[in-house]
Amino acid sequence: MILFEFEHENATSAEEAVTRLHEIETETRFLAGGTDLIPNMRIGIAKPAHLVGLGRILREPMTVDGEGWLKVDALTRLAEIEHSDLVTSAAPLLAASAHTVAGNQIRQRATLGGNLCQETRCLYLNQKHDFQFVEPCYKRGGDCCYPFPKNKKEVCWSVYMSDIAPALMAAGAEVTVLGAGGPVRMSIDHLFSGDGLRPLTLNLGEMIRYVHVPPMGKDSAWGYHKSTVRGGLEFGMAVMALTFRLDADRESCKDARIAIGAVNEGPVRLSKTEAAMQGQRLNKKSLTELAEMASAEVNPLPHHGFSKPHLRDNIRVYLRRAMEAALARAQQA
Ligand SMILES: Cc1cc2nc3c(=O)[nH]c(=O)nc-3n(C[C@H](O)[C@H](O)[C@H](O)COP(=O)(O)OP(=O)(O)OC[C@H]3O[C@@H](n4cnc5c(N)ncnc54)[C@H](O)[C@@H]3O)c2cc1C
Ligand code: SF4
Repeated sequence: MILFEFEHENATSAEEAVTRLHEIETETRFLAGGTDLIPNMRIGIAKPAHLVGLGRILREPMTVDGEGWLKVDALTRLAEIEHSDLVTSAAPLLAASAHTVAGNQIRQRATLGGNLCQETRCLYLNQKHDFQFVEPCYKRGGDCCYPFPKNKKEVCWSVYMSDIAPALMAAGAEVTVLGAGGPVRMSIDHLFSGDGLRPLTLNLGEMIRYVHVPPMGKDSAWGYHKSTVRGGLEFGMAVMALTFRLDADRESCKDARIAIGAVNEGPVRLSKTEAAMQGQRLNKKSLTELAEMASAEVNPLPHHGFSKPHLRDNIRVYLRRAMEAALARAQQA
């Protein structure tokens, strides 16, 4: 598939890139690793007239501050994150989730910021327009939604498939967003709108500059699972990430965070299940009940041929296993 013509320039600093996005009058996008944007341009989902490349901006090394927060430049490649001893010890959920993205070749190019800002997906959307049935759908500026024809106008149920976003949510991460008014730090939860047409809350020209991950205490546990059909180089069917803290008895749960990805327009927190975990003695029986509660709380969109009941079942089984693994790891530590 041949790309259409567009202008391209490279920025040498994050500030310059943000300024250029405001200066250029035609539709302009940041280009990081290009592993999401370029394929989307090829099939006509994205049609920028101008790209501002981020690849020449000097990437800052990853650091852990005095309070144990890991700071990662959003331009850092996923391969670097997955293999970093610093990330593995300070933010194991981030390392584990980065490892599951696509295949090694893609992870060598793909960046953390690009992963969080990736476009949502849907079987109907992710093909060249020539192969679509008749009309462009809402997401392509058209007036229909073939997979979900009964949806209200302009409601898009495309699915956000970042493997890393749910992990960062469960870890309680924050992001620094650089815009025309300077940097703003916020919880990663605020990055997602829950709207399939416009899944991120970022405004034009705002760039994710850093990701900050809080320390995992000695009493903390983490679990992660990405369900796929073949188990390699594949977008997720469902992604599950969780953290919890154990009380002094090493069995009771002080608090928990659970995030589910790849089944909705954005990653979602399971607040009812999180609340039910608080104060609960964690063992095989209670984890089975909590996973059942989670699978009832989550409301997955059917996507890529997977039905809602199938996705619920998948989450019930694999979330329980991820919780059990997390508990075992924490109790052995
Ligand atoms: C074959 C294949 C398999 C894949 N499998 C997976 C998978 O299993 N899991 C998964 O999560 N993803 C997967 N992806 C999607 C994609 O490769 C990754 O999400 C990747 O991390 C995107 O990063 P990038 O740097 O290449 O982003 P780009 O393609 O450069 O950018 C993506 C979008 O983010 C914007 N952007 C980039 N950086 C920033 C920033 N710092 N701030 C604001 N906006 C920014 C761009 O303007 C663009 O709109 C796959 C892609 C392919 C082609
Ligand atoms: S769910 Fe969204 S992307 Fe998919 S066809 Fe409907 S409008 Fe288009």
